[in-house]
Amino acid sequence: MRIDQLAPLLAHHLAPCPTLLSLVQRAYIRLQHFHAPFQIRQAFHSSIGISWLGHNESQMEFVAQLKAAVDIVSVVGQYVRLKKVGQRYVGLCPFHSERTPSFNVHPAHQFYKCFGCGAGGDVIKFVMEIEGLTFWEAVRLLAERHGIPLPKSGLGSDPEGQHRNRLYELHAEAAAFFERNLWTPGAQRAREYLARRGIDEATAREFGLGYAPEGATDLVVYLTRRGYTQDELLAAGLALVRPGSPGLVDRFRGRLIYPIHNETGRVVAFAGRALDPEQEPKYLNSPETLIYHKTNLLYNLHRARQAIRREQRVILVEGYMDVIGLHQAGVMEVVASCGTALTAQQARLLHRHADMVIVNFDPDPAGVAATERSIQLLLEEGLYVRILELEDGLDPDEYVRAHGSDHYRRRLQGAPHYFHWLAQKVRTRPNAHTLQGRLTGFRELLLPALQRMPDRVARASVLHEIAEFLHVPLDVLAREMRRLDRAKSQNEPSASAPQLDPKEKLLVNLVLREPSVRAELLGRLEALEYARGWVTWPLLEKMIVLQRAQPEWGFSELEGRLDQATRALLERVALADEMIEPEHALAQARAFIDVLDRQQRRERIIALKRRIEEAERAGRCEEALLLVEELAKLEKGT
Ligand SMILES: [Zn+2]
Repeated sequence: MRIDQLAPLLAHHLAPCPTLLSLVQRAYIRLQHFHAPFQIRQAFHSSIGISWLGHNESQMEFVAQLKAAVDIVSVVGQYVRLKKVGQRYVGLCPFHSERTPSFNVHPAHQFYKCFGCGAGGDVIKFVMEIEGLTFWEAVRLLAERHGIPLPKSGLGSDPEGQHRNRLYELHAEAAAFFERNLWTPGAQRAREYLARRGIDEATAREFGLGYAPEGATDLVVYLTRRGYTQDELLAAGLALVRPGSPGLVDRFRGRLIYPIHNETGRVVAFAGRALDPEQEPKYLNSPETLIYHKTNLLYNLHRARQAIRREQRVILVEGYMDVIGLHQAGVMEVVASCGTALTAQQARLLHRHADMVIVNFDPDPAGVAATERSIQLLLEEGLYVRILELEDGLDPDEYVRAHGSDHYRRRLQGAPHYFHWLAQKVRTRPNAHTLQGRLTGFRELLLPALQRMPDRVARASVLHEIAEFLHVPLDVLAREMRRLDRAKSQNEPSASAPQLDPKEKLLVNLVLREPSVRAELLGRLEALEYARGWVTWPLLEKMIVLQRAQPEWGFSELEGRLDQATRALLERVALADEMIEPEHALAQARAFIDVLDRQQRRERIIALKRRIEEAERAGRCEEALLLVEELAKLEKGT
């Protein structure tokens, strides 16, 4: 007998026992999308008194099933390097800039929370936030990535999500169009260019390189025939309105096309390289669109991600061709900023995948200025920066072609730390033979960069090395550094969140983790007036109500009933670091409540005695007698 046949039967017999019933229900929900035909589900649902026949409800069931099937740690782990600490995982928050991890993922409760910026929620919320998706888009993405078949009835949707989805589809079609074109006779020039740059066909295909024909409307005509509207073509940035002429024209014409993918691996934009020397500009990029934000996207990150984690470093280069050339030579951990100067968001994106960045930018003067700006951002992000300067002014892809990838790898291995590189510059200055000259060099080149290092321990160790390297006494450099630090620290506010009472944390955690003691503890807390003044009371109150309605509740049932403030409270408490063995914790909790109980009883007795006196003095004998009775009861309990 299969679960779908068994379940209605069980449901019928289990109806008097809500605990078992809810267990069966839950198991059933997990399985039904794979096993149960609709009629059987319907029969089951009516037999347990729940009507789940509506379209939306079946979608919500799918969402519940998806959440149960997907592990939040592995999903978040694709975007953030996580480290196990006790029962949770921590990492650098992807939603705000930080150097010490305050981003937590809780596998048991399947939620994430950042104590730095407050971001938090379940796995769907995470995907929504990090990919910038709507709810149903995130559900679809998660389901597709985990090979979970979507329900036949379809998923919900929303106008923004639909629009975005159309843009993704449109870009995929356009990418295929460009790629096909590259291998037609008309694209001779583009293929010649690739050959000159040493890119073979397999690599060109792997990167989806393409060619935009020279005709004015080839892509517009193609996509219009595939059912895309003028508005969609304009929204995708692939077509332009030409003043004075009807209809749209192609943005990219007669160019080699590099598709640009987002972190998920979807094409979201294109870059077109000129093939004629007089063609302007040399690089033409898609404009920002609903799906393309160039400031927080890195070229090739979706392909390089695994290699970056494996090598524990990322190579940052300038151009698309540098990336492709290095990749072809087997150097996979390489990304480029998309035709712009590096941004703080991109630095953070890098930091999510590696701690070490090897910057391999063009050595020309314009390149040097851009490199300096990028490095400042990388240092501020707390990344360990190394500099690779290639001799003879060669680009990385030219270098691997000229010297081979092994040689390039050795150069990577020997790339100096940014501070060594700077110190080397100081040493080659004309006045470097005097102490004063080296000290001036230190002040001008090294000190500003050191100041951007957020980690003071790392900074101190760098300072030590520089002192040795420059032959300057350490205490002289340290004095310079301290002077700057003092100036800086005067502007830093001291931020700290109000602390939770450890006893409250203990109680809430016990109730969360130990269903067997919930009834006892919540019952006692409900009777305890003191508890109503606690920071955690709003949460405890919800637990008390839930306990009454559904004694077998779990974390998600509780979370579903909370408003934002209480949920934040729950996340703070549930992610508390204190990990104590339950028996010990229970004894502590009981003792704690006992103390408060006694205190409360004492206070009540005092209050009662006062009221009795008052009643006697006012001659309200009957009231006084009732109060005396109450007092006797209270005192007996002591
Ligand atoms: Zn954060």
